[in-house]
Amino acid sequence: MPTERTLSIIKPDGVARDCIGAICGRFEQAGLRIVAARMVRLSQAEAGEFYAVHKERPFYAGLLRYMVSGPVMAMVLEGEGAIARNREIMGATNPADAAPGTIRADFAESVERNTVHGSDSAQTAAAEIAFFFDDMQICPRDS
Ligand code: GDP
Repeated sequence: MPTERTLSIIKPDGVARDCIGAICGRFEQAGLRIVAARMVRLSQAEAGEFYAVHKERPFYAGLLRYMVSGPVMAMVLEGEGAIARNREIMGATNPADAAPGTIRADFAESVERNTVHGSDSAQTAAAEIAFFFDDMQICPRDS
């Protein structure tokens, strides 16, 4: 399995409930190392651009209101098969469907306020990492 990088976001509900440490612990325990991290309060325009793929969906306006409601923690995770591994650890979009022991099963409040974002393919991972981080802000972890 190749080493990959993926974008993770701890969404406003996770930051507001002080779950950053617990969620980062899940990543580290699963062998996903944090190689960049930044807390940011997204503007409406930034949230709209990040979720542009969903702009025709009925939940888009509510999703943007939620994503700008407080700071988020954006991170780059690195590890073997990091993109799929992160999605496994996160669990299904709707916490009601998320497998026991996943982040969303344990922390998410609803299908909208579902605590974490994770890139879903190599192409989106590259674009989403570049959305938040310059190359110089990413620190390869050799040891
Ligand atoms: P993800 O890749 O698992 O985050 O899911 P999607 O890319 O399909 O959706 C992006 C985000 O939109 C989700 O993480 C939720 O915050 C929100 N979302 C997705 N589906 C719904 C829905 O049916 N209703 C509401 N209210 N929000 C949704």
